[in-house]
Amino acid sequence: MQQHIDSYDFTGKKAIVRVDFNVPLNENFEITDDTRIRAAMPTLKKVLAGGGALIIMSHLGRPKGVADKFSLKHILAHVSECLGVPVKFAPDCQKAQAEVAALKPGEALLLENLRFYAEEEGKPRGLAEDASDEEKKAAKAAVKASQKEFVKTLASYADCYINDAFGTAHRAHASTALIADYFPEDKMFGYLMEGEIKAIDNVLKNAQHPFTAIIGGSKVSSKLAVLENMLEKVDNLIIGGGMGYTFIKAEGGKIGNSLHEDELIPQAQEIMAKAKEKGVNIYLSVQTLVADDFSAEAHTQIVPSHEIPEGWEGVDAGPESLERWGKVILDSKTILWNGPVGVFEIAPFAGGTLKIAEFLAQATEKGAYTLVGGGDSVAAVTQMGYAKKVSYVSTGGGAMLEALEGKELPGIAAIKK
Ligand code: AMP
Repeated sequence: MQQHIDSYDFTGKKAIVRVDFNVPLNENFEITDDTRIRAAMPTLKKVLAGGGALIIMSHLGRPKGVADKFSLKHILAHVSECLGVPVKFAPDCQKAQAEVAALKPGEALLLENLRFYAEEEGKPRGLAEDASDEEKKAAKAAVKASQKEFVKTLASYADCYINDAFGTAHRAHASTALIADYFPEDKMFGYLMEGEIKAIDNVLKNAQHPFTAIIGGSKVSSKLAVLENMLEKVDNLIIGGGMGYTFIKAEGGKIGNSLHEDELIPQAQEIMAKAKEKGVNIYLSVQTLVADDFSAEAHTQIVPSHEIPEGWEGVDAGPESLERWGKVILDSKTILWNGPVGVFEIAPFAGGTLKIAEFLAQATEKGAYTLVGGGDSVAAVTQMGYAKKVSYVSTGGGAMLEALEGKELPGIAAIKK
């Protein structure tokens, strides 16, 4: 049975907590953005304040085995500073029995990178490129078999399990999902995870209407499942960014050199037809900022989105598009935003995305529920200083995207079941 972190008695207990400390490091192994570390602090501090001891586990990067570059020792000092206690370090996550045994209430131990072991992800490593299907199958079976021991060892360290790693909740890994089975009566979500789940439910289950989704970004192919799921939920669907041009082409528009995926035109047409059937309003861009080059020095002009001249590509939403979209956004009670509406990394093409962030902030002030979820829109809203002006900014890129596709995330399911 799932427990709740607020009511669970941590007195004298050891809690093993899966966090997402996969932070960016520079060439001197200094943390360049500690958002993920800070995001886990409420949960970690709650365990210590409740009289428990902490065993913290995470991955860092994508190591293919043991590699100093990916050692969590690089972040130990900063974690200690944030937590306010000196955190101890176990240099091998599978051989931490002595360190765990010595752990007293109020103390914390950080385990070395879980992904130093292939068993964390349960995927074989070091297979020859020309390995036969048989060999691949055997290697997979071998790692799955040793994964059981790996999970069992981690579980043996603790009395209870907390999952607070939303960023990896879409992976059925040892520490994010499998370990939960060893704590049938003592498993729970951390506060970060709880916040993310609530945010997802606020848009997918309990949305107030009108509900508008703004879906942007580069490719239709990576957002197809999100678009399809959104059609079942929303009143308005704003489609912007690079992916918008496939839809404009599907309507017969001329898109010049703009990004598009010809092979997805039938799907784009299907989405538009389905929207009509369901009474969902689709708002494509009507006016576009086009450039003659993908750079800040490019020449630009504003043209109708369906009449982009040859040699020019759409790089941002034009003022008329933004005005229309703004009206829709400001009339909505629930708004979900995933994906920038222009190439926001290049300053002269960031205006549209900034405007969307502003509209969301205004809508939030008017009482709407606004969720910014998934990858680049999160970066945009944070960079532009609007993160505190919307209802919720998700910390999980891939995990949020899969949740918005309507998939059940293994990291969430393992606690709930
Ligand atoms: P995604 O990861 O699919 O959300 O896509 C984010 C990326 O889409 C960002 O790097 C943007 O620069 C890019 N993007 C947005 N609008 C356009 C556009 N009109 N043309 C090319 N790339 C775009």
